[in-house]
Amino acid sequence: MLTQSFIFEKGQVDEGETGVEKMMAEILDGAAVARRVREEVARRVAALRQSADRVPGLATVLVGDDPASEVYVATKRRMSLAVGMAEFHRHLPASSSQHDVAETIRNFARNDAVSGILLQLPLPRHLNAAALISEIPPHKDVDGLTEVNAGRLLLAEPGLRPCTPLGVMELLDSCATPLSGALCAVIGRSNLVGKPVAQMLLQRDATVVMTHSRTRDLRELTRAADVVVAAAGVPGLLTGDAVKEGAAVIDVGIHRTPKGLIGDVDFATVATRAGRITPVPGGVGPMTIAMLLRNTMLAAEGGVR
Ligand code: NAD
Repeated sequence: MLTQSFIFEKGQVDEGETGVEKMMAEILDGAAVARRVREEVARRVAALRQSADRVPGLATVLVGDDPASEVYVATKRRMSLAVGMAEFHRHLPASSSQHDVAETIRNFARNDAVSGILLQLPLPRHLNAAALISEIPPHKDVDGLTEVNAGRLLLAEPGLRPCTPLGVMELLDSCATPLSGALCAVIGRSNLVGKPVAQMLLQRDATVVMTHSRTRDLRELTRAADVVVAAAGVPGLLTGDAVKEGAAVIDVGIHRTPKGLIGDVDFATVATRAGRITPVPGGVGPMTIAMLLRNTMLAAEGGVR
């Protein structure tokens, strides 16, 4: 075990409690990369304002009183204002009908000042999320979750892509991780993270192994991989003995514990094997919102119809 505070730079040596020297992975600082993305978005918002007298607008729809969702939406609204966008918001009661939520989305769909619409998930159980997502016009679908945009991703056609997978790719690119020909293991096959991230890696010419809860010998597969993206929603699932020396490890998982946030990656053991690793918090989390802002910007620029 290591007694570390994880304040180390690339290649720094940590002796831990054992006194045995171990090379520590480079930490991929998601907060810093996200800040750079937001700065770039802010510059483009200002340019659009000047050249076309247009202000990108993000509309958020929140249904019910889930405290985590309230925090996420508040952060998205605050950050959209911080980059110079307009923001629109509807908070509907948990008892709202399918029709009420659909009508709210349709109103934003008709509003020319709204470039992007975000329906915060999860929704109360009585609502049909898929049907509501399909009310979002594909060109305003800044979460990239409509059938049209999912299909475009599968076909490698231009479209709005899901934000968390985009954030994963941006982090891998921030340290120039070679992807062409690389063996990438994706843990998890959700529509929100696992499937789209696997497609994005495939489109960068990686060889992708998709794993899930029924996968046999997960450890053998991840041990062979140059890149591991962990999005299983299982705290500490990926341990150091399941990682190839020097691999890039991206931790998408978020779990609230009494000791704070942790991910799907057992950071202490994996950081001594991996070449690069994202922390939790401060890794993929900040990237998701930054990519949402970039998508809203792209939607306002009209580049993705
Ligand atoms: P999900 O529950 O929809 O999907 C989890 C996937 O992991 C499933 O495909 C399942 O088959 C697989 N899985 C479960 N247990 C496994 C195991 N033992 N071995 C291998 N695969 C297993 O979850 P999701 O929405 O994809 O989210 C995954 C995690 O990412 C969660 O912790 C979630 O909170 C987090 N998340 C973070 C962000 C962010 O911004 N950082 C965004 C979305 C999700």
